[in-house]
Order: sequence, then structure tokens, then C-alpha cells
Amino acid sequence: MDIKEIQKKATMVSNRYALSQDINRDDDWYVLKLQEEVGELIQSYLSFTNRGRKRDKSDAEIKGNFADELADIIGQTLLIADHHNIDIEDALENKWFKYLDK
Ligand SMILES: [Mg+2]
Repeated sequence: MDIKEIQKKATMVSNRYALSQDINRDDDWYVLKLQEEVGELIQSYLSFTNRGRKRDKSDAEIKGNFADELADIIGQTLLIADHHNIDIEDALENKWFKYLDK
């Protein structure tokens, strides 16, 4: 699955979520939601690295939760790019992968 396919699927999920939860995704919702997801990522990272509450979860569940939150960050980032018509593949090429040519 390439990044555009992942972005398309993430957008489909977000559309369903917004419809089912009656969420108004205005222009700044996308970045505000990313901030919420960063908070959830940090919480799960603290648990994963034995610096946060484990909430009676197994190590496997805690690692799975950390993976879920990383997925949320990527998904939400792709939604922001989609909302603002940013080609994330081009952005990655321009910002990250240019260093591979040096
Ligand atoms: Mg989350």
C-alpha cells in the first residue's frame, strides 16, 4: 500500500467518524486533533517505557497501544495534508529524501 492509498483510506475513516460522531471538522480541527493525538502518544510512550501508569495492561497490550497511537499520528498527519491539498509524497521528497542524494 503506498502513501496515497493510505491517505485515501485514512480520509474515508475520518469521514465516517465525523459523520457518526457529528463532529464539525473545520479548518483548525485537523491540527487541534493532531495535538490531542500527540498527548495520547506521549501517555502511551510513558507507559511503554515504564514511566507511566500501566492500567492493568500487559506489556503486549501497552506496546500495542503505543503502536496504535503512532498510527493515529500518521493518520491525522495525512488528514491534515489531504485537507490542505498538500502532496505528502512530494513534501517527503523535498524535506527528507533530498538528503539521500547528497
Ligand atoms: Mg489516539
